[in-house]
Amino acid sequence: MFDLIIIGSGPAGAAGAIYAARKQLKTLMITTDFGGQSSVSSDIQNWIGTPSISGTNLSENLKKHILAYADNIVNIKEGEKVTAIENNNGVFSVTTDQKNVYQSKTVLITAGSSRRKITVPGADRLEQKGITYCASCDGPIFAGQDVVVIGGGNAGFETAAQLLAYCNSVTILHHGDVFKADPIIVEKVLKNPKMKALFNAETIEIYGETFVEGMKYKDKKTNEIHDLKVKGIFVEIGQIPNTVFVKGLVDLDEYNRIKIDPWTQKTSTPGIWAAGDCTNVLYHQNNIATGDAVKALENIYLYLYARTT
Ligand SMILES: Cc1cc2nc3c(=O)[nH]c(=O)nc-3n(C[C@H](O)[C@H](O)[C@H](O)COP(=O)(O)OP(=O)(O)OC[C@H]3O[C@@H](n4cnc5c(N)ncnc54)[C@H](O)[C@@H]3O)c2cc1C
Repeated sequence: MFDLIIIGSGPAGAAGAIYAARKQLKTLMITTDFGGQSSVSSDIQNWIGTPSISGTNLSENLKKHILAYADNIVNIKEGEKVTAIENNNGVFSVTTDQKNVYQSKTVLITAGSSRRKITVPGADRLEQKGITYCASCDGPIFAGQDVVVIGGGNAGFETAAQLLAYCNSVTILHHGDVFKADPIIVEKVLKNPKMKALFNAETIEIYGETFVEGMKYKDKKTNEIHDLKVKGIFVEIGQIPNTVFVKGLVDLDEYNRIKIDPWTQKTSTPGIWAAGDCTNVLYHQNNIATGDAVKALENIYLYLYARTT
């Protein structure tokens, strides 16, 4: 029986594991892969204390930091996906896709979120045939080409910034009339003469015989349909929380994010806490995810201590 099971190993899970080790809580971390979402990022500039770091290096540092304190206290199961959690009077049985069942007195959910897929005609058929969800993985394939980025948030602008290094032109399509991304990155990216921005643009179709040849979008103000001849389409239209495995166990909001008490990170079920992008906090960022997980650990420690005294 573990004191704590942590689900996920992004910034939130890593922070939870480091604090669990320092508090000597017998912990199991279960994670499908290590490092979290921003491990695909080429340059993270707001990780406090580090002016610039690649996502890969950030992931490696998180792992190194856990292992430096893990001893026999924190065990890591990498490559396992949690599929269900059962609550038996305050003892939690956590089941994984490998049919393993682990038991624990408490659970910290830090399962983050995954990319929202675009669902217009052609999107399914042409995924990975010109439509991609990862600029740092697939960007270089489109060197010298005209490409589109769908989405005007931070992830969209970060993608555009990467693509400008080798694409002929980058057009960013945003469905609203104000970009959601931070002004500092918007200004920097839009300054580039290869960059073009379209507002109020709703993607309605992606077409091509075998590979992407172009896309159609509607100008929501004029209702006119426009055609863009491009070979590459990078989609950055938001995230979906990884919370299916706790449906019915803890309260979720209308976006399926786990509702937490912001003072303690407690969920609606005693013994289960959550932190990071899978929760209904207002902002989703690396530093926030770590801070919230630290807060959860302080509270988990008090809960376990109260149970033993
Ligand atoms: C491309 C990109 C660039 C970004 N750049 C920045 C940036 O520059 N600065 C910044 O502050 N933020 C950035 N973000 C946001 C930041 O990455 C997130 O806020 C942060 O990763 C959230 O951390 P997390 O630990 O909550 O979740 P995640 O990082 O999403 O980690 C979730 C973890 O849970 C695991 N997992 C999921 N489901 C299961 C399951 N069922 N069983 C077991 N394990 C599971 C995953 O494998 C992963 O390890 C970026 C995001 C993206 C997508």
